[in-house]
Amino acid sequence: MPIHTFQATVLENKKLTHDVILLSLSAPKDFSFLAGQFVTVRVENGTEFRLKSYSILNPPSEKGKVDLCIKLIDGGFASEVLRKAKKGDSFQIKGPLGHFVFEEDDKNQEIWLIGGGTGVAPLYSMLKEHLAAFKNKKFFLILSVREKKDLFLQEELTQLGKKYANLTYIPTLTQEKWKGATGRVQEHLPADGENKTFYICGLKELVLETKEVLLRKRVALRNVKSERYS
Ligand SMILES: Cc1cc2nc3c(=O)[nH]c(=O)nc-3n(C[C@H](O)[C@H](O)[C@H](O)COP(=O)(O)OP(=O)(O)OC[C@H]3O[C@@H](n4cnc5c(N)ncnc54)[C@H](O)[C@@H]3O)c2cc1C
Repeated sequence: MPIHTFQATVLENKKLTHDVILLSLSAPKDFSFLAGQFVTVRVENGTEFRLKSYSILNPPSEKGKVDLCIKLIDGGFASEVLRKAKKGDSFQIKGPLGHFVFEEDDKNQEIWLIGGGTGVAPLYSMLKEHLAAFKNKKFFLILSVREKKDLFLQEELTQLGKKYANLTYIPTLTQEKWKGATGRVQEHLPADGENKTFYICGLKELVLETKEVLLRKRVALRNVKSERYS
């Protein structure tokens, strides 16, 4: 995939939860990427700039835009700029970047996608892009957030689970009891890790701890793919 640098316009800045926004940016028609990849955004705060990485939420088949799902951190350099981004604002984007992509010729029949918070973004893109074409495979998505108020894309993912019988969606809350699953993602992994492929995305701790649990379950390293946000 050729790497492009382009000026993107904010199409929408929508609040998904109290601290997560969906920033939708324009992209050239010939901008293509693979589900799971990310872009960098040049963020300027008036005195300095930083390049920040964000996974692409939309599937590659949705052309002409790059949707980003961004957790706002109080006092964070990019967070404080992006929370105020409004329709028509412009940002320099570079991408697509990264190797955390869905392997289409994988022989394993079970695909486990594991995300913490906004780490669900590349996994969502993979599901939207590949679910229909891989009806013979079983997909599982485990998404952890702290509390019910932190859940996002809940409607979209629930609908996806209803539309595709081969997707099981497991949202889990780590700090609140509810009707659904609770506890950390590691508690919802399959008992037997053989012949399954795992895609893990999120903060360092979630990625490293999940990998450790999987390796203890004798999952082959080649069947574990990950993207770390920190
Ligand atoms: C390949 C890649 C893809 C990424 N994709 C996404 C994405 O799709 N969505 C997304 O929200 N982020 C994503 N990130 C993280 C993102 O690039 C920034 O690091 C994050 O947005 C914080 O930037 P900031 O400038 O607002 O905060 P900073 O000023 O860099 O950090 C402020 C403080 O917050 C802490 N911090 C950073 N991230 C978090 C967090 N998630 N939760 C709690 N504390 C945190 C830092 O350790 C630091 O102490 C990705 C990172 C990488 C490397």
